[in-house]
Amino acid sequence: MITVKEALDIINKQQKDFGTELIPIAESIGRILKEDLSTDRQLPPYDRVTMDGIAIQYAHFANGQRAFPVAGVAPAGAAQLTLEKDGHCLEVMTGSIMPNKVDTVIRYEDVVIENDVATIQVATLKEGQNIHWKGSDRQKDTLVVPYGTVISPAEVGVAATVGKTHLKVARLPTAIIISTGDELVEIEETPLPHQIRKSNVHRLRATLAKYKIIADRHHLDDDMELIKKDLAEIINKYEVVILSGGVSKGKFDFLPEALAALGVEKLFHKIKQRPGKPFWFGKAPNGTLVFALPGNPVSSFLCTQRYFVTWLTTSLGLSKETIPHGILTRATTFKPDLTYFLQVKVSYNKKGQILATPVDGNGSGDLANLVDADAFLQLPRGKDLFEKGEVFPLLFYR
Ligand code: AMP
Ligand code: MG
Repeated sequence: MITVKEALDIINKQQKDFGTELIPIAESIGRILKEDLSTDRQLPPYDRVTMDGIAIQYAHFANGQRAFPVAGVAPAGAAQLTLEKDGHCLEVMTGSIMPNKVDTVIRYEDVVIENDVATIQVATLKEGQNIHWKGSDRQKDTLVVPYGTVISPAEVGVAATVGKTHLKVARLPTAIIISTGDELVEIEETPLPHQIRKSNVHRLRATLAKYKIIADRHHLDDDMELIKKDLAEIINKYEVVILSGGVSKGKFDFLPEALAALGVEKLFHKIKQRPGKPFWFGKAPNGTLVFALPGNPVSSFLCTQRYFVTWLTTSLGLSKETIPHGILTRATTFKPDLTYFLQVKVSYNKKGQILATPVDGNGSGDLANLVDADAFLQLPRGKDLFEKGEVFPLLFYR
């Protein structure tokens, strides 16, 4: 049996680059940008009026002039006007290009316009006010979104403004999630007393969907021949295979044997941890990675978050996240020689530090307990008592 660290090292060695693809920006949310985005023109691209109002020559105001005959109107989207008559003004709208021969904008709220003459109502003005100067945000050919960024609505807006209809993003692996077990039925079914609804596979699909992977789904009954037959086809077809259940010591836990028979190299089986000890990880001759997770919902959940998500995010080139730490708020004992992933509720103290309060559950089968907790606190092997106030790595899953 290997340690958590050894398991993570083995998994990290299997990081894969799935290449890139070009997609429309409308589909890019949540994807990982694989190009630099730069400005194709200055931002803003022209001296932009920022208030609806009038534009004047400041020198006239400084000389005491308050009434300015209106010589024209500059709507947003119209080509640049020029003030032809000295001492006049032009009405200008937010977003319009600042006309020639004027230098200061006064908002409508500060003028009265009567008989085509605008009279300024305020005593002081700042020369050049209410203008967003050309290039003052960014110069042309300036990097605005770097390679490796996760695309959020903000990046979509910037991409549009610099003229990108399509973005080069990380290609996602093809993936399938497979439930195993004769006791499992579909969500819509009414389970018999000895049956349960499948949950792991749906939760796993949801995790993958967070990273924009739409995984296929399959089910295997506890039947060695059937498992081997189906898995042989599946491994050929998908780059990532995630299995749920069937990797423990039970009489019907056929997966380790079936995977070995199919030539899938076992990279490890079993980790010194609770929950999630029976996790099996391997690689098929064609390079397909097989994550065979324990069936118990909390074990499966922990292994997904701790190992699969780490593997996926580093493979996709997301900057390696630094794991935050949380302060244990209540003494906890754990005797077995295993890393213990304690379910905790997260809160913050006045210093902004993260507090981790244990959420007692009924062990690795207690699926409902997962919704009461926010994270796992990773308590190391080699000690039994974890004191209040001690600090440990925290795996958030919300
Ligand atoms: P196994 O690892 O196959 O022995 O399963 C361990 C436990 O997890 C059993 O109680 C199973 O019923 C349960 N289990 C396995 N797969 C799932 C699943 N997809 N959803 C919910 N529970 C499951
Ligand atoms: Mg089973």
